[in-house]
Amino acid sequence: MKIALVNPRGTSTPELSIPHGLLQIGAELEAAGHEFKIVNYNDIDIPLNYEPLKSYDLVGLSVNTLQLAHAKKIAESIGDSTKIVWGGIHCLLDPESIMKSFPAHFLVKGEGEQPLLDIVRHLEGKESIDWLAARKGVCFTDKGRRIENDAFFNEDLNQLHDINYYRLDNLEKYLYSQNFYVPGAEKLGKLSILTARGCHWNCSFCINTLLARHGGTYRAKSFEKIRRETEPIIDGLGIRFLFPADEDFFLNKGMPEAIMGYAKEKNFFWGANCRYNYFVEKIINKGKLAEYVDGGLFFIGMSIEAGDEEIRNSILKKMVKDVHIDNAVDTIENSVGNRLAINTSFIINFPGDTQENRLKMLLIMDRLSRHLNIVFSGPQSYRTYPGSTLSELDNEAQGYKTGDMEYYIKSVSESGTPLSLMDNSTYFYTQAVNYFFNQRFKFFELHEDNGRFSLHLTTRKKKASLVRKLFLFAVNLLFIPVLIRLRFNFWGCFFEPFIVGWCMKRINNTFSLYQRLTGRHK
Ligand code: SF4
Repeated sequence: MKIALVNPRGTSTPELSIPHGLLQIGAELEAAGHEFKIVNYNDIDIPLNYEPLKSYDLVGLSVNTLQLAHAKKIAESIGDSTKIVWGGIHCLLDPESIMKSFPAHFLVKGEGEQPLLDIVRHLEGKESIDWLAARKGVCFTDKGRRIENDAFFNEDLNQLHDINYYRLDNLEKYLYSQNFYVPGAEKLGKLSILTARGCHWNCSFCINTLLARHGGTYRAKSFEKIRRETEPIIDGLGIRFLFPADEDFFLNKGMPEAIMGYAKEKNFFWGANCRYNYFVEKIINKGKLAEYVDGGLFFIGMSIEAGDEEIRNSILKKMVKDVHIDNAVDTIENSVGNRLAINTSFIINFPGDTQENRLKMLLIMDRLSRHLNIVFSGPQSYRTYPGSTLSELDNEAQGYKTGDMEYYIKSVSESGTPLSLMDNSTYFYTQAVNYFFNQRFKFFELHEDNGRFSLHLTTRKKKASLVRKLFLFAVNLLFIPVLIRLRFNFWGCFFEPFIVGWCMKRINNTFSLYQRLTGRHK
């Protein structure tokens, strides 16, 4: 069969990221004797012309909730000229919303490798509809009856065929794009690789916890497989930065050492996910961290999510105590210091969030950004996943799983946050706070000496237009009262979130309008 694997556009066009799931499904299809092509509409150079899709025997649409609007448009354009199979995380969250809108289509719940092969076998006439109706992960409507099987998850990622990055059109665009931490290194390739799926932890808000509930627990690829998949591209395209995506990278026995050895051999730098509670003697002590950084580690991502310890651990189930944060700060500051970039996130607006929690969050952000070389993603406004543990406490989420595709298309903002939650206070925390503290981050620059590369901190700031400088000036000005409060830990009549949020919203809108009119981007 000839199969198109389509990644529809989200509501915004973020940095192009490698569609690992589609590459893996493609590898399985190819091994079973089928032809496949990946069509990633998030590459803005790919025209939004759906006619060519009609020439395929089957079109697979991989969707998260933000991609629904575009996926719907594609599905309607294709009509019934070819078979359509929906997959991706939204199909697990609310399969009914798709099955009700497109009863003639198939849908895959969970990981798509085997269910898609099963659907293809049926469509080729090799298996009956009754056989298909009993296959894990496969959903469809048969004579008005909705068949919805349990989600499918691969038991062992090492049993899957190796993915081939060269199957992506415009591969260079995925590799040679802006490197946030090392501005100016765009000509040096950076590669994100999926080395594990799932997570050992059980945070109540997280999509991985929801996946684990359906059977998608933590599974990792072996280093041998990772090397087989990445060596051609690292050698062939001069990759200098490698980001293994593994939620539990530092608990994956032997993997940090293996990647460190690989980094030394291939002369690249690497970054990975971590947790604040991993800075203990047995996992990451000062000596170990220094060894990793000498071996190319330059970045770790780890989240705190809530300022208040009780809320963080009883509601969000993050299992990170304040003492863990203290340990992490001490370990990093007194071993590698600013040579290690940290990315940390918080969330607000979740069920059980309080004003006190947000104030503690501000204090932690202030402290961390004075002691570590840290950049904050967010705070982000809570986005509920229907079926997650936290969504059960969430009144808004009860109406979320509606089985109604239009509900998602109309009511979700660019970030995935329900539009009703983007008020002034939310704007203050998610935009102003983020802009302010992130100015303290120190970037890196790359030096080359006889073919060996090294990273150095730079005091040079990213180039900014006059308008952006004015924008940051306004942020700093608006933030002065908050700085005074942080200094004296005084929070009586804390009205700044509303005032600053209101101002920031207007300034940001004007700035965005200016960028749109002049064709510039932030
Ligand atoms: S938030 Fe992080 S640690 Fe918690 S379950 Fe999700 S991926 Fe795992």
